[in-house]
Amino acid sequence: MSSTPRNIAIIGGGPAGLRAAEVAAATGAFVTVFDAKPSVGRKFLVAGKSGLNITNSADFEPFVEQYSGKDLPDDQWRKQLAAFDNTAMGKWAKSLGINTFATSGGKVFPETKKAAPILRRWVQRLREMGVDFQMNHQWLDLQKKGESIELEIECKEGVFNQDFDAIVLAMGGASWPKTGSTGKWVPILEQHGITVETLQSANCGWECDWTDETRIVAEACPLHNIHVRVGEELQIGELLITRYGLEGAPIYALAQTLRRMAAPEIVIDFKPTFTIERLVHKMESARKDFFKEAQLRWKLSMGACAIIRQLYGEIDSAQQLAKIVKACRIPLSGPRPIDEVISTSGGVAWDELDANLMLKKLPNVYCAGEMIDWEAPTGGFLMQGCFATGNSAGLAAAKVQPYLNT
Ligand SMILES: Cc1cc2nc3c(=O)[nH]c(=O)nc-3n(C[C@H](O)[C@H](O)[C@H](O)COP(=O)(O)OP(=O)(O)OC[C@H]3O[C@@H](n4cnc5c(N)ncnc54)[C@H](O)[C@@H]3O)c2cc1C
Repeated sequence: MSSTPRNIAIIGGGPAGLRAAEVAAATGAFVTVFDAKPSVGRKFLVAGKSGLNITNSADFEPFVEQYSGKDLPDDQWRKQLAAFDNTAMGKWAKSLGINTFATSGGKVFPETKKAAPILRRWVQRLREMGVDFQMNHQWLDLQKKGESIELEIECKEGVFNQDFDAIVLAMGGASWPKTGSTGKWVPILEQHGITVETLQSANCGWECDWTDETRIVAEACPLHNIHVRVGEELQIGELLITRYGLEGAPIYALAQTLRRMAAPEIVIDFKPTFTIERLVHKMESARKDFFKEAQLRWKLSMGACAIIRQLYGEIDSAQQLAKIVKACRIPLSGPRPIDEVISTSGGVAWDELDANLMLKKLPNVYCAGEMIDWEAPTGGFLMQGCFATGNSAGLAAAKVQPYLNT
């Protein structure tokens, strides 16, 4: 531990910033959290609305494989995650008096399910550790000033400057801007010569040109136990038909590939446990009303029937329908707008960061959380990535080794 306490500013009170504040304060540093909104953790609370999936119980190797990003440095990323892994996350929740449990699919939730009790206890603990919270304080810019960094911040009284030994930037991506994650930091860092990969919708629904007829029949219908393919890539799970298109984990996981396609399209196998021959056999003597018969004999859902009817028109034979059911091509018109998606891809380019997540062009300025160019599917991997990078950046800002793991 360094002998003189460091004076550290954290910009952004999401999970990444709060974890950075926590580990830095634990070293005895003076920590101030600035956030543009009236309170911290607003997206954390949104994430917890339908159950806060805080991490995943997957083993380390399959866990690490969930992450991607342009030039994501494999070794470095492994170290960040190993320094604060899913076990550490469980211990951390327990240290706040909150037990966690894993579902059979590996998703880990706090027993409280909601995020509010965790956030309340977390902020209280941070206050007890001496962390100073400055809300309604918008970061505008920074400059190197000798060994220190001078921040330019706007609050209701006006704009002021303040010096710190180190800064952790943890301002999130650009989804759900009403929670404070507006992405307004991008041009500011770009002015300092920092490369930022474009923030794009990730973990998002995709739009399909449903007709009114399809919408009337299929909106809100789930498509259970399906195989969703893009080229060689396969995702298994469930999709939900929405007013505008499709939502659900399989399509979220395929987003990276879909974004690269000029004409994005998925191929769904609605009956993955049956062969075409088996499906045809089950139709036996059916000679008409193939959709009605398929609902009865194949248990083909209403939603699937509506989609096939829109995309392929009337059906002349069981063989034709069986082929479509096994490989239904659905053109997508684009991802949902960035404002409403779960997370964004893109962010501060890896090349700009050293092994401690410090900006090479701005010494003593560190980055953490979703504002760095990594992405992951839903399932608790996003939160873990935010905590892990917050952990590393907070410790590095406090100039402490080895990494804390609590
Ligand atoms: C609907 C929804 C559900 C989700 N569910 C889950 C889930 O179950 N599991 C999971 O792992 N992930 C989930 N996520 C994703 C997860 O919430 C985010 O990845 C995570 O919150 C990002 O953390 P962060 O600390 O990087 O940034 P954020 O949480 O976005 O926080 C950034 C903070 O920075 C502040 N800020 C921004 N700019 C400035 C500025 N200029 N000056 C001062 N302050 C600023 C903002 O006000 C905000 O408080 C969900 C997201 C959404 C939208």
